[in-house]
Parts: sequence; structure tokens; C-alpha cells
Amino acid sequence: MKILKLIVNTKNEKYPILIGSNLLLNLSKILKKHSINFQKCLIIIDKNISSKEINKIKKKFKNKKVFSHKFNATETNKNQKSIDKILEILLKKNFSRQDCLISVGGGITGDVSGYAASLFKRGLQFINIPTTLLAQVDSSVGGKTGINTKYGKNLIGSFYQPKLVISDINFLRTLPKREIICGYGEILKHSIISKKNFFKFLNKNFNKIINLKSPFIEKTIYESCKIKKIIVEKDEKEKNLRKFLNFGHTFGHAFEASLGFSKKLNHGEAVLLGMKTALDFSFKNKILCEQDYKIINQHIQISKLPKNVKKYFKHKDIDKILSFMIKDKKNETDKINLILLKRIGLPIIKKNYNTKYLKTFLQKQLVN
Ligand code: NAD
Ligand code: ZN
Repeated sequence: MKILKLIVNTKNEKYPILIGSNLLLNLSKILKKHSINFQKCLIIIDKNISSKEINKIKKKFKNKKVFSHKFNATETNKNQKSIDKILEILLKKNFSRQDCLISVGGGITGDVSGYAASLFKRGLQFINIPTTLLAQVDSSVGGKTGINTKYGKNLIGSFYQPKLVISDINFLRTLPKREIICGYGEILKHSIISKKNFFKFLNKNFNKIINLKSPFIEKTIYESCKIKKIIVEKDEKEKNLRKFLNFGHTFGHAFEASLGFSKKLNHGEAVLLGMKTALDFSFKNKILCEQDYKIINQHIQISKLPKNVKKYFKHKDIDKILSFMIKDKKNETDKINLILLKRIGLPIIKKNYNTKYLKTFLQKQLVN
């Protein structure tokens, strides 16, 4: 069994990310090897994960007290009520800080579980077992946790690093194609903001990756996590460099929020639309070089990735989209800051765009 391993080294924490197949069968060994001990654990399980997988985990914890809680992972359930429910179980079962919370699910389950772990007695051991491609390549790395409110997405949360991340590609086999494409959105983002070679690899091997072929899928997850890990290590608290990971997200989050976080547009799809919009904006404002603009557009076209904002929005939605963009965490005033691209591997932050300018741009996007 080949395991790919990355170590994330932040100022106060150091933890491994393991990538491979059938990793759960070796769970006890993995925990022992990484000196992770606990008496009790609460497993928060995405309700779409089969009981067979959960039993595999439970079997490995024969000598521990294991509790589990099924979670219906929707953006609307990514809220304080779900956090309270988890905290209630932990309190009721008298968990100590040395016990452990384990998330088995996608980015929503991971973000909610991680936030609950950070709050419980100011920090309970947390293990993340991501089960979607998006979570394996992005959300399980870097310690951002959080919930949504009616004011927007992920506005409440914490930075809280896990003790361990186990990315078992076997989980991906039951994932709908649509969710695989969502994960691919974040992978593409990582390549565009930091590594032309990785972008070329994706361009060449898109079909193999999307069909989960080994060793392409493992390499893709590894490279994607590596890009994020390097950024997070340099800027854990998003003072500067980490902001680049939000490429496509200022537009993307606003798109999601405008549709009320409905299943019509998943996070990864919103990010793909957001990146396409940011690329068009970069090009039209003479920031992005023509050659790279063309190569990325070609990739989006050939891979049939979601790119058509017009399919989801009409003119009348623009004010709503802008109102969410103003609330973005990157803004310091009512003006809008955007992560844009100069060329593949070279993103930049452009500050203080006024709403009127963006409104005209979005109006044109919805016409062309
Ligand atoms: P998700 O957690 O909603 O999972 C997507 C869907 O797949 C859900 O319906 C879920 O039930 C189902 N599912 C999960 N695992 C499955 C499996 N193995 N087989 C079949 N179905 C399965 O969504 P996601 O795309 O994983 O994550 C999106 C969330 O991640 C967003 O809320 C976003 O804000 C967050 N996010 C966080 C970070 C971060 O740094 N913390 C980064 C990127 C995204
Ligand atoms: Zn994202």
C-alpha cells in the first residue's frame, strides 16, 4: 500500500496529510505511528457515507468509547444550531480535551466539525477524514473552520488545525460526477494561482483525473494539497499570501449567496463560475496576458466545466450579487477588493473597485 504524505508545519502545529487507498483498514496503525491517543471519540458522519465505511472505522477503535452523529451536509445546515448539537453531545458524554472529534464527510461536515472542536473546552483533538474531492484537495488543509449566517458564507469561524488528515481515495468512488467537478474547480484554482507545470499536467490528464484513475488522482490530490500547504505555512491567518486562495471566490461566494446556497449551484461550481468571471475581468482590465487567458479558457471549454454565469443569473440579480460582494471578508471599506491574475502562477490583489464599475462589468457579462 503506497501512502503519499505531506507535513503541514504552521507556527504552533505540525500535522500529516496522508493520501492513498484503503487507509481506513490501517487506521489503528496510523494513529499509533503519529502518537495520537484518546479514550473517547465522537465521529461526525456525512449521512451519504455508507454504514459499511463507518463500521470499518468503529472496528478499529475496539478499545475506545465511540459515539457517532449523522450529519445532513447542506449549506443551510452549516449553522450554529448544528454546532450546538455537537457541543451538546460532547458535554453530555463528558468529553475531555484529550478526547477526539473525527469528521467523516465533505467540506461542510469538516468545517462544522472543526469549528465545534475548536470551541469545545477551547480545543478538542480533531481528525479530518475528507470524503469528497473538494475536501481532500482543499478544505481539509489549512485549518479554516466555520459556519454560514444569513449575512453570508463562512463569516463566523476559527483557525483550528487538525491533528491528522486522512484522504482515502476509495471514498471518491461513490461521489456523484457533479461533486467531482466541484473538487476539480479548487484543483484548477491551485494550479492557476501557483504552478504552470501543474496546470499543464491537469490540461493533459483531465479525463484520467476526473475518472479517478491511479496514480493520476493521487498525484493530483497531493500536488493540490502541497500548493495549499506551502501558502498556509507562510500565512496561516490570511494576512496577505493566503488571500490568493480566494481566487474566484469573491464572485463565487456572491453567486452562491444570491441563490440562497441552494443545490442549484454548489460551492465548487460557484468557484468555477467565479474564476471564469475573475479571468474575464482580469483580461478586460488588461491585467492578464492574452496567451494565458486563451490557454485557461481552452481548458475550461474542452473539459466542459461550468462557465456560463448567464445560465444562473439575470440582470435583476446584479444588485444582490454586488451586495454580497461588498460583505466579503477581504474588504476593509465598502469598496471591493479582488484577487485577479497576471499570468498563470502570478495572482495579484487589486483593491477598492467601486460598485458602479463592477455593476457595468457584470451587466456586460450577462449580455455577451
Ligand atoms: P459537501 O460537504 O456538501 O459534500 C458534497 C455532497 O457530497 C453532499 O451532498 C455530501 O452529503 C456528499 N458526500 C460526501 N462524501 C460523499 C461520498 N464519499 N460519496 C457520496 N456522497 C458524498 O461539500 P464539499 O464540496 O465537500 O465542500 C464544500 C464546503 O467546503 C463549502 O461549505 C465550502 O465553504 C467549504 N470549504 C472550506 C474550505 C476551508 O478551507 N475550510 C475550503 C474550500 C471549501
Ligand atoms: Zn472554495
